[in-house]
Amino acid sequence: MNDLPRIGLGIDVHRLEAGRPCRLAGVAFDSPVGPVGHSDGDAVLHAACDAVLGAAGLDDLGTLFSDRDPANRGRDSAEFCTEALRRVRERGLRVLSLDAVVETEAPKLAPRRAAMRARLAALFDVPEDRVNLKGKTGEKVDAIGRGEALRATVVALLGPR
Ligand code: MG
Repeated sequence: MNDLPRIGLGIDVHRLEAGRPCRLAGVAFDSPVGPVGHSDGDAVLHAACDAVLGAAGLDDLGTLFSDRDPANRGRDSAEFCTEALRRVRERGLRVLSLDAVVETEAPKLAPRRAAMRARLAALFDVPEDRVNLKGKTGEKVDAIGRGEALRATVVALLGPR
């Protein structure tokens, strides 16, 4: 039943505010703005979790870790990834590849892109050459283009362990 590859998609948007810590794909950025969220607001990891969970046919991140639960306040999103991967493995699956797009005006991702890929690879136990991540700006369009929010989109491919 698990012998065919499975694809999953995750999308996450967070508001950006001045003076917030900024952590994306588990990598800390020195940035004047950061994502607002109940947890650490790491939209890339949230989208990656949803992509992986979705491919495995499992409940989404918001269902597993409610933003109304005080235990999840300020929580390191790496813990969500660990739990998502545990559930995926429990189903006899592993992550074969990840591809991410991060749309934001700030911070500039290029200087930390390699670190972000490496962190995603480590968190989901995928070889680094099977993880990709692209940064894009919002081209002055909508809330992302005005620098009010950022959006992460991740596609995950899963296969049998
Ligand atoms: Mg989120």
